[in-house]
Amino acid sequence: NKIIIAIDGFSSTGKSTVAKQLAKNLNYIYVDTGAMYRAVAYFALEHDLIGDDFFKEDALVNRLEDISINFKFNIEAGFAEVYLNGKNIESAIRTLRVSKFVSPVATLSAVRRKLVEQQQLMGKDKGIVMDGRDIGTVVFPEAELKIFMTASAETRAKRRYKELLDRGHNLSYDDVLENVTTRDHIDSTREDSPLIKAEDAIEIDNSDLTIEEQLETIVGLANR
Ligand code: C5P
Repeated sequence: NKIIIAIDGFSSTGKSTVAKQLAKNLNYIYVDTGAMYRAVAYFALEHDLIGDDFFKEDALVNRLEDISINFKFNIEAGFAEVYLNGKNIESAIRTLRVSKFVSPVATLSAVRRKLVEQQQLMGKDKGIVMDGRDIGTVVFPEAELKIFMTASAETRAKRRYKELLDRGHNLSYDDVLENVTTRDHIDSTREDSPLIKAEDAIEIDNSDLTIEEQLETIVGLANR
């Protein structure tokens, strides 16, 4: 009996790592909705629609129909990678630059409407693990299992910093912490669909939990 599993929480709580593993264990589809918002931010950056001191919101909204996002399973990676207009952008969207502009882009209601609609279509056959910010509240309020992941900002910034260093990015811990807290703020005060814990979501603080421990807990809940 396949279900929908919604995994929400602040940035860098390790949601995607757990969600990917979970999908693999259950033989479910995994969808990273953050990657979809990052794809739109990437498009905006590529077309000079957003930058350090400007944001051409209307121009971006007018070009939304030129943005086609999809996922293709990569056997080697073991998960579905994100494509923008046919181009694999899975690693191009993980830069601090995209991270900096993604939250303002995600505040546009036209952007959210477009992506939420696509996300709902992806879930129509169940058997899906979707991670994001508004999955349990907006995308699938009827999801059978909702997880809300938390960890302290410092724990999250440390993880993110290590991850970016491992990918060869050259940056300071302070910049990463600043990005994490700024995104938290924008994400939680957004008017349209602020990041809030759904009433029926189960909160997991994973500051001191291994990935195995988190998986065990969530698989247990999924099999109830
Ligand atoms: O999950 P990730 O950190 O990659 O998400 C990047 C950004 O995309 C978030 O900081 C948030 O602004 C936005 N987002 C969103 N709604 C989602 C997923 C991500 O607004 N469901």
